[in-house]
Amino acid sequence: VIAIRNLHKAYGSLEVLKGVDITAHAGQVVSLIGSSGSGKSTLLRCANLLEDSQQGDIIFDGDPVRWKGAGANRRPADHAQMIRIRTNLSMVFQQFNLWAHMTVLQNVMEAPVTVLKRDRAQVESVARGYLAKVGIADKADAFPAQLSGGQQQRAAIARALCMEPKALLFDEPTSALDPELEQEVVRVIQALAEEGRTMLIVTHDMRMAADVSDHVVFLHQGRIEEQGPPGRILTDPQTDRLRGFLSATL
Ligand code: ATP
Ligand code: MG
Repeated sequence: VIAIRNLHKAYGSLEVLKGVDITAHAGQVVSLIGSSGSGKSTLLRCANLLEDSQQGDIIFDGDPVRWKGAGANRRPADHAQMIRIRTNLSMVFQQFNLWAHMTVLQNVMEAPVTVLKRDRAQVESVARGYLAKVGIADKADAFPAQLSGGQQQRAAIARALCMEPKALLFDEPTSALDPELEQEVVRVIQALAEEGRTMLIVTHDMRMAADVSDHVVFLHQGRIEEQGPPGRILTDPQTDRLRGFLSATL
């Protein structure tokens, strides 16, 4: 369970998150939608402590992040807790961020071996399992540049899974892809949703949001404007802002 409570984040005088509450229960898929600049990526980055926030709580499986300092000086107080949260909330980015000089298999194995100090042979068999799961077992020894965009993004998903995280965070995982490659990544995410993975997904793909989410949150200028089950949020918006957003994206 990831619970975000009253989260505030500013870059200097620019207030980006103005008191956001989101809960992703175990096995739940929560999608975050909203216009460019509404704070979606910032929220994900604050959730896994890649970015500092100034006020509010982040509670991971009942364990609230401990802070030192306040306001602009607030930082996570407990380094071990910070690492634990980062490894348990694996992030997949829009640009796949694979290491170009490593093969796909090496990319997937890197963090479990170097960060988690897991046994290399065991990690390799787990990594090959995840490559098979995302449908690119045959690309294990290829370099990222030799893969299509969709294959690279599936490699990035395998890399996130290989950390065996409790939850996955996706930031626009399909938006750098051509439409025909987008679908192969959506299918992988759909399969992960069906096996009950906890996921927080930033997306502008309303069809994917409808297909995979249990709950959809519409963010507007750093505040939650509307939220609910996808069937209602995406087809029966209650606010003019969400109505406007949906009619502009469809
Ligand atoms: P998009 O759909 O375009 O990805 P987003 O909803 O993910 O948008 P964010 O990237 O969270 O939006 O950005 C929210 C606001 O914070 C924007 O106004 C952006 O310019 C600003 N911002 C983001 N990162 C930084 C940064 N490192 N320094 C200063 N301002 C930033
Ligand atoms: Mg973004």
